[in-house]
Amino acid sequence: MIGFVGRFVRTRVSRRLFVLFVLSAFLPLALIAVLSLSQVRSLLLEQGEQRLAAVAKTYGMTLFERLLLASDVAAAAAGNPAAAAGAGSMAARTFSALAEIAPDRTTALIGEPPKVDLGAEARQRLAAGQPWVAITGEGAGVRVVIAIGLAQRPASVVVGELREEALWGLADEFPSATGFCVLEDEEPRRVLYCSEPMPREILRSLRVQGRSGFASAQWTRDGQATRARAWSQFLRAGFGTPDWMVVASQPESHQLARLTEFTNVYLPVVALTLLLVAWLTVRQTRDIAGPVGLLAERTRGIANNDFTSRLDLERDDELGELANAVDQMSQRLGNQFSALTALAEIDHLILATQDIAQVVRIVLQRMQAAVPAQAVAITLFDQDNPDQARTFFQPPEAPGTMSLERHAVTPADRFLLQGMSEGTWLDSRAASIAPSFLANVLSAGAPAAYLQPIVWRGVACGVLSLAYRDAAQLTEGEKQEARELADRIAVAVGSQWRDEQLYQQSHFDPLTGMPNRLLFKDRVEREIARGQRESTSFALLFVDLDHFKHVNDSFGHTAGDKVLLEASRRVSRCIRDSDTVARLGGDEFTVMLGRLNHPQEAWVIAESVVAALSEEFNLGEQQCFVSASVGIASFPADGGSAEELLKSADTAMYRAKAAGRGQVVFFEEKMNREAVARVTLDRDLRVAIDRNELVLHYQPQVDVASGRIRGAEALVRWNHPKHGLVSPSRFIPLAEESGFIEQIGRWIIERACAQMKEWRALGLPLERISVNVSPRQFRRRGLEDFIRRAVESCGLPAACIEFEITEGLLLERGEAVEGPLLELDRMGHRIALDDFGTGFSSMTYLQRFPVHTVKIDRVFVEGLGRSADSQAIVAAIIAMSHALGKLVIAEGVETDEQLALLKKLRCDEIQGFLVSPALPPEAFAQFIGSRVEAATPI
Ligand code: C2E
Ligand code: MG
Ligand code: MG
Repeated sequence: MIGFVGRFVRTRVSRRLFVLFVLSAFLPLALIAVLSLSQVRSLLLEQGEQRLAAVAKTYGMTLFERLLLASDVAAAAAGNPAAAAGAGSMAARTFSALAEIAPDRTTALIGEPPKVDLGAEARQRLAAGQPWVAITGEGAGVRVVIAIGLAQRPASVVVGELREEALWGLADEFPSATGFCVLEDEEPRRVLYCSEPMPREILRSLRVQGRSGFASAQWTRDGQATRARAWSQFLRAGFGTPDWMVVASQPESHQLARLTEFTNVYLPVVALTLLLVAWLTVRQTRDIAGPVGLLAERTRGIANNDFTSRLDLERDDELGELANAVDQMSQRLGNQFSALTALAEIDHLILATQDIAQVVRIVLQRMQAAVPAQAVAITLFDQDNPDQARTFFQPPEAPGTMSLERHAVTPADRFLLQGMSEGTWLDSRAASIAPSFLANVLSAGAPAAYLQPIVWRGVACGVLSLAYRDAAQLTEGEKQEARELADRIAVAVGSQWRDEQLYQQSHFDPLTGMPNRLLFKDRVEREIARGQRESTSFALLFVDLDHFKHVNDSFGHTAGDKVLLEASRRVSRCIRDSDTVARLGGDEFTVMLGRLNHPQEAWVIAESVVAALSEEFNLGEQQCFVSASVGIASFPADGGSAEELLKSADTAMYRAKAAGRGQVVFFEEKMNREAVARVTLDRDLRVAIDRNELVLHYQPQVDVASGRIRGAEALVRWNHPKHGLVSPSRFIPLAEESGFIEQIGRWIIERACAQMKEWRALGLPLERISVNVSPRQFRRRGLEDFIRRAVESCGLPAACIEFEITEGLLLERGEAVEGPLLELDRMGHRIALDDFGTGFSSMTYLQRFPVHTVKIDRVFVEGLGRSADSQAIVAAIIAMSHALGKLVIAEGVETDEQLALLKKLRCDEIQGFLVSPALPPEAFAQFIGSRVEAATPI
């Protein structure tokens, strides 16, 4: 019970209810109990008092009668003294002493005659035949004496001293728990008799008012309250003696004995009633407070965003209704809350990011959660191309994922959406052609779709599709949510469009669509950062059209704009895709050329820009010519910031203008000199072939095991009329840049073939000649055909001409060169991978491309015997190449030690100064002949 109560007094409401119920029952009950108990008590006391008074009166009357009886007994004894004297006679039981007193003599009838003084008053009464009572003695010796006159002997009186028990009676005859005291009602108020002790002063102080009244007193005896009532027994008339006061006393407890009985029954009844009330209260409290507690808990749950729990209270009263209402409210709040959360998240995303996909993902998730659709898709038309669209789709089988598909939009699709201002149902089974944007949902098996157009500023920019297997119903709330989410997407799309527009406006030149100064500087700063990080260099070109003002003045601004647009296109055509062209304003263009191997490469491009801009501009019916002046600044030499570099390039451009326009000028003077030198060299090189200044030298390639010369690498030399022998490392890169390498390359191939033909005719024991082919040569188609013709025209087997290519070629143009290389391989030519180890050195190249020979670069050979790393690399290259079935040649072998190590590592062939440098053809033929004769081992 206590536990039961305890459970319910835990909640405040139930505690309060419990206290209220209990108090409302307990207080009245307690009050009634107290009142009735006190009422009963006073009633009982009153009754006791009355009874006590009656007892006292009755006792007084009894005393009166006993005195009368005693007087009769005394008279009878006087008439028959013999009988009276007998033991057991009435007289003997009544009197302890009895005597007849005549004037002359006293006759003792029983015991000694009592001593009594009969006064005049007494005699008078006795003479009148009336009895007379007197009190003799004091304290314990108090005696009651009765006298009567005798009718037969008028002079005599009979006097008797009354036995106590005869007068006062026996105590055990008294009413239970009642004591009596008798005392004189007049002074000296002697106490005549007490059946039990009573306080004398209280007895004496008792005064009975009036004839029929009673006096009352209370005291405590032995800790017990005692009550007394006094009755004044009138004796004077009957016995000529003062009245006696009869006091009857009883303990209060005796009087209240009934009250105790009453209490013994009453209190358990009250307690039981209280318990019943408590039990009923708890039951009622539980019935009310239990659901109230659950409701309070649910409300707290809602406050803490728990909208999923339910009360599900099965009650048919108001509390049940309330619980039901709370459950419904919680569900609705939950829906609204998650809708608001999704909207807030979308708003946040719209503000924080331009990524539409993120917004779409949230909308898809929200729609999937809020609407019981089989599949949800969102289609957005491209801003710049409304014939194209992206459809984001959340497949029903994987709700967390989102797929994105690009597809074309038909005019019919757009027309369908343009006419739609509100959400519309579309059942594709009934339509002749399903819209393209429903392809996904249709393939997911949901042909009925609710289409909510996404409209931005009156234009449909997309559609939100909720797809169903069968026709379905959407509530107004669900439609509203679809509308709101579509609006949010529209805002996100609009915001993205606007951002793009703003970005476009602030970063691009409206006329040419090229980056403007802001974007250009930004890109330059990035390139500077990369340059600093990776120690690379790049160059800036500052291009200014010469005499552009004339174009505007003569042909008008529209024509001027045309020229600028065309100029921007021409400049763009001169550069690589990775480079940036910008229009700074007016007729000024800037170009950033990234990742240059040499600053001079910029010169070549600048020259091509000048050349392109010097060509005729077609203005409809008219033509005009402008040229351009270009200033070049290079990083890091000419500036450490975009601003500085631009300033340097601008300064250089002004120098170009000052030098007569149509020119290219480096900011740094030294570079200009170099450029001039390169230009001169380039010019000279172009005539070198015709003037027979180019020659091929041959460096032998020797078999390590046998020491036999097996091949020779053809290395080009330029006999410059002024500068003497120019190294290929000086003019080959220049020729590569200018593109002249193609002619030189062809000459080299033809020359090498002719040489081989010559030597074969002479019977020189040479298996092959290796020809270096530069990457640029592969750019132009038909290299294989050219080679085939050259080799065939000399009547050579293809195997005796090997081609050396570099790793860089495979790395940068692997796709493009794969075909030509395979063709050369098919034709029977050998392919050697030159300078192996310096580049990317991927073994996959060796597998993928038809490579027959691997040439270990000089730097590793140099390190042999000096660096453990080099040795390990050489060993690895040899082992791996052998594993793939390739021949290995070590380049640049200069020492015997290197040779010994290479031998140990089982290298196949060597090439280097240890055997011989590259030799002119005659010297090579001699060298090979002398070695064959001498059978020189290496
Ligand atoms: P490469 O193809 O790696 O040629 C080997 C270079 O190493 C040659 O320099 C050669 O003289 C040099 N050499 C050979 N043995 C030793 C040696 O023991 N010690 C040292 N220090 N050097 C040695 P060269 O002739 O100056 O050619 C340099 C580069 O120019 C060639 O490197 C090649 O890439 C290119 N080249 C030369 N001739 C031609 C050619 O006809 N066509 C093309 N496209 N490039 C060529
Ligand atoms: Mg080579
Ligand atoms: Mg090499």
